[in-house]
Formats: sequence, structure tokens, C-alpha cells
Amino acid sequence: SGGVADAKNLRVKLVLLGDSGVGKSCIVLRFVRGQFDPTSKVTIGASFLSQTIALQDSTTVKFEIWDTAGQERYAALAPLYYRGAAVAVIVYDITSPETFNKAQYWVKELQKHGSPDIVMALVGNKADLEEKREVPTHDGIDYAEKNGMFFIETSAKTADNINQLFEEIAKRLPRPSS
Ligand code: GDP
Ligand code: MG
Repeated sequence: SGGVADAKNLRVKLVLLGDSGVGKSCIVLRFVRGQFDPTSKVTIGASFLSQTIALQDSTTVKFEIWDTAGQERYAALAPLYYRGAAVAVIVYDITSPETFNKAQYWVKELQKHGSPDIVMALVGNKADLEEKREVPTHDGIDYAEKNGMFFIETSAKTADNINQLFEEIAKRLPRPSS
């Protein structure tokens, strides 16, 4: 389901879910292109971007990253989008409790309707806006722990923890037995 590979080269479909404006597209562009553009309306559209990373055991993981073109506003379309995904990255904005609530909605939705072996990461983005923080770090940690997810706070703006996010996901992928 979403993971195609030989033992050493994995290829996985990754989707990002979360409210509009939390920084999903910026996280993708930071990871894939090393860029952050605060002025542009970045939305990648219907196609996907890919990025390959190498792990220490010489496994490579090619992420096929699906960004939404604002379809996150239409919950009914979501199943089309996350179908077959091996990884779901659920993003909220640490300055917005509303987006943290919405992230929890997405977790429940994926637990009900996602692939049973999906790897889920909970991401508190905009960690550079510490002075505006309204979601305490431990709320994210607690929720992720209760739901068996990986948790990290990131900043697409400063690049803080962006590579770590994808590396940690890669380490958690189920490996095909060889
Ligand atoms: P999306 O709707 O979830 O794809 O969100 P975008 O990636 O389009 O980002 C929405 C807005 O948040 C844009 O104005 C970005 O410049 C801003 N943004 C995204 N990531 C960060 C971040 O890590 N820190 C700050 N300060 N702003 C961010
Ligand atoms: Mg977007």
C-alpha cells in the first residue's frame, strides 16, 4: 500500500494533511528545493514532487510527495488524496489551537479510513513564532504518544527540523523482507 521497493530502495507515497495556511506547501518546498518564499502562494497543484534520501544503512527512500491545491478545504475529497499513501504528515500551526484540533480530526480520519500500516507524523510547524505560540509542545507530544505517531516541531521558514522530519519518517517505514 503506497510502498513499492526492493529491500534497499523504497518508494513511498506521502501526503500532507492539515488546515490551509499551516505551512504544508512551504514544508515541501523547503525539503525538496531548500527554499522558503514568504510572499508566494505556493501550491504545487495536482502533480507531486519527489525527493530521495539515503539512510545510514545505505537504504534509499524516494518520497513521492502529494501536496493539495487547497482541497484540504473539502473533507469529502480527502480519501481520493490519501488513498494508497504509506505516509501521512499531519500539520498544524503552533500559534493556532484551531489547527491543532483539525490535526486531531485528520488523525482520527486516517485511523478509520487510511491504510492500516500507514506511518503517521504529527508536525507542529511555524516553531520560529515562539512568541506567538498557543499550542504547548507537550500537547503535541502527548497526543502523538497516545496515537502511536512520531511528533516533531518544525519551521519551514528557518529550515529547523525539516530534514529530521523526513529522516525520522524514513526510519519508521516498514521494510520489505528480503
Ligand atoms: P498550506 O496552505 O498549509 O500549504 O500553507 P503554506 O505553505 O501556503 O503557508 C501558509 C503561510 O504560512 C505562508 O504565508 C507562509 O509564508 C507561512 N509559513 C509557512 N511555514 C512557515 C513557518 O515555518 N514559519 C513562519 N513564520 N511562516 C510560515
Ligand atoms: Mg498549500
